[in-house]
Amino acid sequence: MKLQIYWQRWHNLDYEPIRKSHYLSGRSSRVDSGMTWRSSLSKDRRSKIVILGGGFAGSNVLREVQKRLGDKADITLISQDNFFLFTPILPEISSGMVHPSDISTPIRTFCKTANFCHAKILSIDLDSRKVTTVRIFDQKETTFDYDYLVLAMGSKDNFFGNVNLEEFSFTIKTLEDAIAIRNHIISVLECADQEKDSVLQEQLLRFVVVGGGFAGIEIATEINHFIRDSVKDFYKNIDSSKIRVIVVSARNGILPELGDELGSFAIDYVRKSGMEVLTNTKAVDAGEDHVLLSDNTIIPCATLIWAGGVIVEPLIASLRCEHGPSGRVVVDNHMRLKDYPNIYALGDCAHLVDCRAGTVYPTTAQIAIRQAKVLAKNIAAELLGREDMVDEFDYKNKGVMATIGKRMGVALINGRKVQGLTAWLLWRLFYWSNLPTNEKKIKVAFDWLLHSIFRADIMTVGFIKKKTLTRLETPIYSVLERSKEEVSENLTYL
Ligand SMILES: Cc1cc2nc3c(=O)[nH]c(=O)nc-3n(C[C@H](O)[C@H](O)[C@H](O)COP(=O)(O)OP(=O)(O)OC[C@H]3O[C@@H](n4cnc5c(N)ncnc54)[C@H](O)[C@@H]3O)c2cc1C
Repeated sequence: MKLQIYWQRWHNLDYEPIRKSHYLSGRSSRVDSGMTWRSSLSKDRRSKIVILGGGFAGSNVLREVQKRLGDKADITLISQDNFFLFTPILPEISSGMVHPSDISTPIRTFCKTANFCHAKILSIDLDSRKVTTVRIFDQKETTFDYDYLVLAMGSKDNFFGNVNLEEFSFTIKTLEDAIAIRNHIISVLECADQEKDSVLQEQLLRFVVVGGGFAGIEIATEINHFIRDSVKDFYKNIDSSKIRVIVVSARNGILPELGDELGSFAIDYVRKSGMEVLTNTKAVDAGEDHVLLSDNTIIPCATLIWAGGVIVEPLIASLRCEHGPSGRVVVDNHMRLKDYPNIYALGDCAHLVDCRAGTVYPTTAQIAIRQAKVLAKNIAAELLGREDMVDEFDYKNKGVMATIGKRMGVALINGRKVQGLTAWLLWRLFYWSNLPTNEKKIKVAFDWLLHSIFRADIMTVGFIKKKTLTRLETPIYSVLERSKEEVSENLTYL
């Protein structure tokens, strides 16, 4: 009934009550309003569907809605990246295992009838139904109006307001981030190979990763192998025993989603492969050449990678609608905003409660893909006047998986615990099969094959490097703007 009222409000259509449709199968996921719907497709004007964001959520809504509506609607996807990025394999860009273009697919590849607009979204006016953008190339402003809006702008790294951590960290969210980490690591190894001062060399060879979740552990294990293999193969002046890859986890362990047993297996394996894991510890400050931890330990280092959590884009957080505690837009189980039935949100930027578990759906690609299917179906149902097609989002997570090293993984599938080579193979097979096109599948398979035969590639593409470390020689106490005595009294060095 609620849907019916929305329907009328936005399309000014009449409806006639009929006996409950024979389509309604009695499944709880079907909307049982007892009314017929009329198609809002008009011969004079096609309904405008605007999708904001071209990640897992936006790209999949685009593909599904096109399949269902073809050219019956005017569909536009707006994104600041002109490609869809397959993030689960992103850490492998930093280690050189996979080529950047092999996990990125131009969004235009998906556009059969839809339009793509390469632009940054500046503002969204929910009441006047307008989206303002600036073109990436020349910053020219454009305004789009819409009948249906899909918010799929994902999330960004959360530094909890700490400006130093934000300034001095590398992040692992975008393709540029992964390439920047790779270039930086290679530059650091080149520098360490020349460095005669053993203290400075040790400082260069400390790599700190903050975050014991999937992104943190996967990037840490990737760079650990890349650094150790590269040093063994190419950097003769570096003693590999000086390499330290340190993971800082705020929790009691790592990969909490996998439960205690697999979590302990993962932490033991990660430690065996030469990494250090500091648990119940937070990074609280940083400079170009150090990280300060919550237990007053200082790690002199040249590399800090931040994977400490995500938050919504400020633009999403500023929308005048209901938000969850982390700023995500609250949606009902049809993925609609409460007071705006023509606006949908999904993926990392949507706050949707899993009725079975009583918790909010996590920010994962798997959830975004499944939400996109249901959401596209519901938009098509509205436009085609097919109430019987409308579904609620009701998804039971079948499993979680992570790679924790060379040919080593952990997985929890339908409650079954899998670890070791089998879990790693399952991880690879699952994500490989989810790559969006056959071309990308072939390319990634070749990347993996070639990487297992040849040595690591240590070429840098210097112009992408984001950070420089210029104060390595500066003593820590002056960086922290405290006296030498104060620093040596309270702090320990790792
Ligand atoms: C390193 C890493 C590894 C991961 N591994 C896994 C994994 O193994 N399994 C898993 O399920 N999940 C994984 N995730 C999480 C997964 O990537 C996200 O949950 C998923 O990407 C969410 O999809 P989304 O479409 O909501 O957001 P995104 O994929 O982030 O897409 C957001 C889109 O919005 C665009 N955008 C944002 N702001 C603007 C703006 N102002 N103007 C224009 N465009 C804008 C972006 O360019 C992007 O196209 C991983 C994430 C990372 C970072």
